Amino acid sequence: MGTERLYYNDSHLTEFEACVTHVTERVSGWVAVTLDRTAFYPTGGGQPSDTGRLNETRVVECIDMEDEGVLHVIQGRGPEVGATVRGFVDWPRRLDHIQQHTGQHILSQAFVSLYDAETRGFRMLEQYSEIDVALDAPTEEKIDRAVELANRIIWEDRAVRVRQVTKEEAASLPLRKESAREGELRLIEIEGFDLTPCGGTHARAAGEVGLIAVRSFERAKGMTRIEFVAGGRALADYDRANRTARNVAAIFSAGRDEAVAAVARLMEENKRLSRRVRVLEDVAARVEAEELLAEARPLAEGARLCAGVFDDRDAESLKKLALALIANPKTVALLGSHERDAARLVFARSEDAAGDMNALMREACALLDGRGGGRGDMAQGGGRKVEKLAEAIEAAARRMTTD
Ligand SMILES: [Zn+2]
Repeated sequence: MGTERLYYNDSHLTEFEACVTHVTERVSGWVAVTLDRTAFYPTGGGQPSDTGRLNETRVVECIDMEDEGVLHVIQGRGPEVGATVRGFVDWPRRLDHIQQHTGQHILSQAFVSLYDAETRGFRMLEQYSEIDVALDAPTEEKIDRAVELANRIIWEDRAVRVRQVTKEEAASLPLRKESAREGELRLIEIEGFDLTPCGGTHARAAGEVGLIAVRSFERAKGMTRIEFVAGGRALADYDRANRTARNVAAIFSAGRDEAVAAVARLMEENKRLSRRVRVLEDVAARVEAEELLAEARPLAEGARLCAGVFDDRDAESLKKLALALIANPKTVALLGSHERDAARLVFARSEDAAGDMNALMREACALLDGRGGGRGDMAQGGGRKVEKLAEAIEAAARRMTTD
């Protein structure tokens, strides 16, 4: 048995009376109620269903069973078949869907008008919606022009009308997209702009959509995927974006619109300082190398061993120190550093010193539960057992002195 769809004639109807025609128990306490008429929009066409109440019971979802009607899924005891119930549609959610959905019609037509680029997909998500548009080589400027046109149509408050036509009549009309439906077609017309078959809920006039904004776009599957927000969502999105921009600006004690320049300056400064730090590290490495050499342990054949554990030195800095050490004759360097949650190691020897750095490194990394290796004269590695770092270096040092 079918359900008369009241939302077809009045997308702003939120209260209605109806007769229960069917009730089925579903899994785990859910009940599906079918009515002879309903103002609830069921999930379909990329748009989620309405929610609301049947008498005092929450309607959590509505499912389109086509000719068998609309299922209203409720939790709790279902009404008796034949009973009269009052339905209440959640208006804020319906208005939101009206804004996104009608906004989609307008934005999609804007891409057709400007670029002959049709919309192949539409999804209304929790915070924003997506359309997939057959638009080649999208640019910021192209998208901006479409958004501009869409908002002009909204602000001109063009009338939105619903028309029923036969398939034959539809064939002679300039529809934006084909319909697979048989029989009568329901057309949505945005005055002088767009004509398309659709069974959804729409604004009474374009102005109700309020505003359309595109959050981002990307190339996806040979099309342009456009993320957009309309109406209340556009305002909420503006609020979030504004808050983010102001919070970033506050860190720099800058005005909101100066934040980008302030961040760019900081990045530039940071690069300059990094270069300066590298230069100073070269100087420091030579001084540190002198100190480590002064405390070096003797090895066989007049060689010497320098070992050290440092805080917060990255691999490059550690390697620099190792190179400064092995620039000296007959020198072996066993160096480690803990940087955040990771231990790093650099083992190196000068050409005229003995020892297999690669083998030593593999053993040390096993202790640190990590990985590493390299050549006989230079090896690098690391691991996550930071607490074993000193032990790993000491074990390698013992190997060098006893071998
Ligand atoms: Zn529609």
